[in-house]
Amino acid sequence: MKERKDRQDPEDSTDARTLQRLQREQRRTSPAAVLASGLDAFSVGDHGLRIWIAKALKNFVNALFPCVCVACGEVSKTGGFLCVDCSVRVERPRGTLCVCCSRSFAGAIEGGGFCGPCAECLRLSPAFECAVAPVRASGVVREVVHSFKYEGRVHLCGLLADWMQEGLADLRMRDPPVEVLVPVPLHRARLRERGFNQAGLVAAELGRRAGIEVCDVLERVRETGSQARLGRSQRLGNLRAAFRLRNARDARGAGGCGRIAERHVVLVDDVLTTGATLDACARALGRGRPKSVRALTVARG
Ligand SMILES: [Zn+2]
Ligand SMILES: [Zn+2]
Repeated sequence: MKERKDRQDPEDSTDARTLQRLQREQRRTSPAAVLASGLDAFSVGDHGLRIWIAKALKNFVNALFPCVCVACGEVSKTGGFLCVDCSVRVERPRGTLCVCCSRSFAGAIEGGGFCGPCAECLRLSPAFECAVAPVRASGVVREVVHSFKYEGRVHLCGLLADWMQEGLADLRMRDPPVEVLVPVPLHRARLRERGFNQAGLVAAELGRRAGIEVCDVLERVRETGSQARLGRSQRLGNLRAAFRLRNARDARGAGGCGRIAERHVVLVDDVLTTGATLDACARALGRGRPKSVRALTVARG
């Protein structure tokens, strides 16, 4: 970990480059992953015999180096990050949801769909149009996010991006189409400590898959510490001044990567809890005059 920091300061690189670098480092330490990626390259195209050989070798490699489920530690027979049992236990939001913050209404009738804004959204009127979260931050999902974020298992980024893609398919995300992804930034000190911004890595992977531009235009200028034990109004007060546009002039217009003016922007983060962080970020983005600001997170707490 220390060696990695010495070689390259994470602040010097974009999230996409950081993701590639971390994945390269991880491949170097995992022979099974190297063999798997080699076999993928070998079986490219429509050559039947090559595909057959690659498949046979892959089964052999899986038998030698079995994939372990990230949530329960059992061998994953599918070769995926989650075993079949744990995949089934990933919870999707059910019942009727607040159209704005995706909160489930208590005691709502099963069957799905959206309702108008909840009491909290009416009271606080967040600066984002809506916040979409495809899965619930409980059980298996909590394990995956924790491993990704705090244990540096960056290869899980792909699994998180799979869920995010489900989020992109949400009606609220399809119309109008997303033009720019903006990751929620980490404070410089936290970035140094962790080596990567989890929201940035997921945004980079999602942007690559969906062909959407990623603009890292926000910066966190104040470290707010752990907010887990604070109430919503305290969090809001703490967070209001924590974010700002990296370079207001770039964001407003002259082109280049920082451009968010007159575009449909979507904020990206890992977990949505109260929505206070996303609200503070959306307010900061407002100064760059985007056409709209929505939010997409992996999971909802
Ligand atoms: Zn499992
Ligand atoms: Zn709501």
